[in-house]
Amino acid sequence: MTETETSIPAAQVGENLAAVTERVAAAARDAGRAPEDVTLVAVSKGHGVGAIRGALEAGHRVFGENRVQEAEAKWPALKAEFPDVRLHLIGPLQTNKVALALALFDVIETVDRPRLAAKLRAELDRRLELDARGLSYFVQVNTGEEPQKAGIAPAEADAFLAAMAADYRIPVSGLMCIPPVDEEPALHFALLAEIARRNGVASLSMGMSADFETAVAFGATHVRVGTAIFGIREVHPTG
Ligand SMILES: *Cc1c(COP(=O)(O)O)cnc(C)c1O
Repeated sequence: MTETETSIPAAQVGENLAAVTERVAAAARDAGRAPEDVTLVAVSKGHGVGAIRGALEAGHRVFGENRVQEAEAKWPALKAEFPDVRLHLIGPLQTNKVALALALFDVIETVDRPRLAAKLRAELDRRLELDARGLSYFVQVNTGEEPQKAGIAPAEADAFLAAMAADYRIPVSGLMCIPPVDEEPALHFALLAEIARRNGVASLSMGMSADFETAVAFGATHVRVGTAIFGIREVHPTG
């Protein structure tokens, strides 16, 4: 698919998935939560259809991709074959890719600015049949206030969430964050959980291969795990 694609035996993907699923469940039980309250989003960016099939054949149905074009190359055929797949967009969404993204993804986790919200609203108004697809929207919060990272600033999150409801009429079901690599992720998970709590947002997408157990302890309802399931990607930005 891309030159960054890696290959991993399908059986290995199945084993890794089982191990990660068990670790998520154990973290949930440790936190006094029900394992089924945490959804494992298998992040397949940088990996080809063979590796993805390993996960599908193991019964997994929730996946994440961070680039619209890469997902467009891999997923339409797989979704036709496995109609109950739920595909999450976890990377930045450019306004010129909104139509493509709404056709392919089931959850857009990276709504992060008014211009994108306006474009989503316009596209939803133009294509009324999209309502029937049952799409969900999460707002990405830049908890570390990193200039190079996408996401709404924490101080602007409440106002943006209010505008999502009142101005753009887009129901927000979750918040998402990617903590800075060199900081204690727990602080960022706690901040995201607090913003969600005070705004009445139910879902929290936080935690990756290195820190998903911590994220579950802080209330993650969705963890986004790539490397621990599919192995190392050669080169790929994390968005
Ligand atoms: C790549 C990526 C992940 C998965 O990262 P791993 O460390 O491989 O588990 C999670 N979230 C986002 C937004 C990503 O881009």
